This record gives sequence, C-alpha cells and structure tokens, in this order.
Amino acid sequence: MVQDKTGREIDGKLHKPRRQLAMVFDLNKCLGCNTCSMSCKTQWTREEGMESMWWTITNTMPGKGTPKDWESLGGGFEPDGRQKASRIPSREEFGDAWKLPKEDVFFGGKGKTVQLHPRNHRGEKPQWGANWDEDQGGGEYPNSFYFYLPRICNHCTHPACLEACPRAAISKREEDGVVLLNDEKCKGFRFCMEACPYKRIYYNHVRDVGQKCIFCFPRLEKGVAPACARQCPGRLRFVGYLDDESGPIHKLVHKWKVALPLHSEYGTQPNVYYVPPVLPARLTSTGKVDPSGSRVPLEYLENLFGPRVGEVLKVIEAEREKKRRGEASELMDTLIVYKWPEDIFPDFTNDPIVLNGGQS
Ligand code: SF4
Ligand code: SF4
Repeated sequence: MVQDKTGREIDGKLHKPRRQLAMVFDLNKCLGCNTCSMSCKTQWTREEGMESMWWTITNTMPGKGTPKDWESLGGGFEPDGRQKASRIPSREEFGDAWKLPKEDVFFGGKGKTVQLHPRNHRGEKPQWGANWDEDQGGGEYPNSFYFYLPRICNHCTHPACLEACPRAAISKREEDGVVLLNDEKCKGFRFCMEACPYKRIYYNHVRDVGQKCIFCFPRLEKGVAPACARQCPGRLRFVGYLDDESGPIHKLVHKWKVALPLHSEYGTQPNVYYVPPVLPARLTSTGKVDPSGSRVPLEYLENLFGPRVGEVLKVIEAEREKKRRGEASELMDTLIVYKWPEDIFPDFTNDPIVLNGGQS
C-alpha cells in the first residue's frame, strides 16, 4: 500500500504539482450566511447558462445538500483505484435557476392578481434549490442540531474529473495544483460530472460545456485571495500552500492535524479541509445540561470527516480550555485570526481595490 506524507493511502494515478494550494474551513465559525456563495456568483457565474451554478455553496448539515443527495450519487475511486459507478445529477437536483413572473406583475396589466411564485425551466414549481434545506438540521428535540458546511471543488490530488475527461480539457496546474476545466476544449460529454464524487462540476445548458470553481486563479496570480475567502464575514476560510510550514494551512493540516478532508474514502485526495464543529452538550428531557456527550452523534461526524474526528474534537476542546485558563495556545491563536488578512491567507493579502486603481 502506498501512502502520502500525511499517511493517507494512495492508489491509482496521482497528480502531484510542485506546490499545492489548499483551503481550510473552520466550521466553528461559519454563520451559514452564504456571502461566499454570492461573492463567487457575482464574480464568475454571471453569463447566460450559468444562472444555476454555485461553484461555492454553504449547505446546512445534516441535509441533502447541493446537488440533492450528492453523497449517494457515487463517483471517485474504489480502494483498488478503479472508478466507482456514478450518475450525473439532473438540472432539478442541482436546483436549477428559478424565474419569477415579473413581466406579468409589472407589465402584463394583471397587477396584483399575479403573485411572484418561482418557476423552474419547465415552468413547474421548484422542488429543490441550492440550499433548500437551510437550517433544517437533524436530531430530536431537545437535542436537535445543525451546522454549516461550505463546499467548493476540492482541487484534488487524484482528480476523478480529470481522469474521466476524454478531451484532456481538465488539467492540474503545476505551480499550485489548481484544477481547471478549459471550456473551449470541452465538448459537453459530462464524464467529469459523473466521475466527481463531490458533484462540483456544473453543466452550462446554453454553451453545452462543463464549468467549475477555478480557485479564483486570476486573483491568486495578483496576490489576491479568492473572493469567497476574502468576503467571508466569519473569517474561517484559510488559504495557503500545504508545504508552507509557517502558514496556517500547514499548521492546521499537518502540525496540529485538526483539519480533515470531507469523505476521504472517495479516493480523490481532496485539498480542502475542515476543522470539525464542536457542538453544544446534550440536554436532558427536563432541559438540564448533560455534559456526557455532544448533541451531534459522533458517528455522523465520522461519516463526513473520518475516524479521527473524535480525537480532533478532544484536541480542540483541550486547547480551548488552555485559553480559558489564560495559557498560550498556538492552535487557538491560529484559528482566531487576530490580524486580517495576513493571518488567514498570508500569500494573498493584496486588496483588489488597490490593484484596480481604487475602482471596486
Ligand atoms: S472535487 Fe471533483 S471537480 Fe474538483 S478536482 Fe476533485 S474530482 Fe475534480
Ligand atoms: S463560509 Fe463565510 S461567507 Fe460562507 S456561509 Fe460561512 S460565514 Fe458565510
């Protein structure tokens, strides 16, 4: 069995760039506001055919997510490196782009008799949307719970999308490991959509091509952080190189080992990591705090982030306790982000407004 530097198993063909950029999301800070999603949407997915695309989206967990039930659609690799069976999600499962009958209300002469109910591309009432089950969560009262899970393309080291593309339209950049889809080369076969187990590639029905998160590479090249990370009011999206030992990414992933990939069993070696959520203690039926356990079942978090999650939660809790006692904690200091932006994306601190000569 071959293993990488972090001890994870490797099978099949890997795409190791010179350096690998990564993101870490601290789930203890996510507000679920989707400012990240909107900042990406307004910057990159404004053209015709891209209306339904959410290259980054924050889902409520437990929830079916975007596209609907993506965790049960298949894709990625078997432990022996063979591709896993999968299917392409439908336009409706992604959430489509809804239309409101504004023309009828404002110009059709029907005035108040028409109400602004959304319709999908078939003219039907939508049954799913990008963050449809927002704040629904799981568990039973008084121990119901939820947390937010921001999701982007993982810019994987073993990208199932890249290997599935017969047109070589998908590549992984040598300088930073960013996975890009060249939509000029793409012929719209959608094998990538089928192969990606995270279902992070969208189909442009107007241009007949696949499109996906580009890690804001034109911004990176000017030393500006990706829009989702820069706009996030929770300041939880860390960006940097995995090999930069003084940077927050290396500290969280390799030194403190508290940032875990999502569904690593899919076999694509994702380069997006999550600091798991420390959720409140359980309550008894009379509303008293039951300190014996967390409100979220550990098995649920293990299903998402793997078997180490319990251990990680204990490390976070121990370091929090140190801070409460007034002792030093490098882990907590890293997660707190005292100085923005240098503490959270040290290589990408340029302000886009300055680069644009003061124009936003
Ligand atoms: S998350 Fe999906 S689209 Fe992104 S690199 Fe991995 S396999 Fe490809
Ligand atoms: S990642 Fe940041 S911007 Fe996105 S939903 Fe969470 S808090 Fe809001």
